[in-house]
Amino acid sequence: MAGDYYAALGVRRDASPEEIKRAYRRLARELHPDVNPDPHTQERFKEVTQAYEVLSDPDKRQMYDLGADPFAASGAGPGGFAAGFPFSDIMDAFFGAGATTRGPRSRARRGRNATLRVELDLAECAFGTTRELVVNTAVVCPTCSGEGTAPGTHPETCEVCGGRGEVSQVTRSFLGQVMTTRPCPRCGGHGTLVPHPCPECDGDGRVRTRRTIKVPIPAGVEDGTHIQLAGEGEVGPGGGPPGDLFLEIVQRPHQIFERRGDDLHCTLTIPMAAAALGATLTVETLDGNHQVDIRPGTQSGQSIPLYGKGIQHLNDSGRGDLVIHVTVETPTKLDTEQERLLRDLARLRGEEAPPGKFAPGQHGFFSRLRDAFNGR
Ligand SMILES: [Zn+2]
Ligand SMILES: [Zn+2]
Repeated sequence: MAGDYYAALGVRRDASPEEIKRAYRRLARELHPDVNPDPHTQERFKEVTQAYEVLSDPDKRQMYDLGADPFAASGAGPGGFAAGFPFSDIMDAFFGAGATTRGPRSRARRGRNATLRVELDLAECAFGTTRELVVNTAVVCPTCSGEGTAPGTHPETCEVCGGRGEVSQVTRSFLGQVMTTRPCPRCGGHGTLVPHPCPECDGDGRVRTRRTIKVPIPAGVEDGTHIQLAGEGEVGPGGGPPGDLFLEIVQRPHQIFERRGDDLHCTLTIPMAAAALGATLTVETLDGNHQVDIRPGTQSGQSIPLYGKGIQHLNDSGRGDLVIHVTVETPTKLDTEQERLLRDLARLRGEEAPPGKFAPGQHGFFSRLRDAFNGR
């Protein structure tokens, strides 16, 4: 089982005890499970610790140098040793207790963040809106003001740790005698006990409630936009500071408009005659009805931009555009009279050639079509 202990620590075979200690200290900081919980790293930490355990002990190191495995001799399991020590204890061992400052922990902790989905219409996304939201959240307990103690009572100093929140003990380890400090098991590190918890919040310092908040939503938000409302989350345990509330915008699909960035796109189907002769049509926009000029000779697939009729840019002035994509509708059911007129038109334009020989884009088509429709 024993690998190359010198290689594990990255030291030469004639390394001094001080060099070995320094190498282990550097690796322990890097590999300790409290710092790096990755399983592969933990495996490496065990190897390194085992190597240090052998090489830092003159007797074991001598055995190892002579070709014996001290672990096999002693029967101690590899790695079951320092891995069980909290990282801070190892650092305490190297730097002396107190290198990591601790003390009584406050009961107050920050509240969690919360996320709320808000569905908006396209127009609300475009122009912004104000929403009243009902939030199910935790607020500071009105009975104890977050203290968690029953009215008229106070927290009592913990008799086990004397209010320090931590207890010290000296243990033997591979480093010799080590003074370790741990959170006090009696008071959980708080230094105080609450003998009479507040009856309303059970000592938690907060109660659940429904709260209504009015939230302004800026123009230009889109599907997936997150709006952070600092401090609007739930109050923390022990009356700790509140977390944040995040609004996640969900944009409802629109019947007519498709949003691409801050531009809107829609399709407008117009009759063949209107495309050929030109027309003025009323179209719907987010700002209400709008007159659009269809130029004579408009083709299927052409687009008409309405500048500034799109979505307001978020946190910026100006708006996107509304792009109208024109589709020309070819008539499908012609009565006898309509068919005769179209045949006359085709004959006038010399378009009676069989299919395949029709030459599109002939000059003068639209003016003549217009004349034909106007009865000239
Ligand atoms: Zn309370
Ligand atoms: Zn205590």
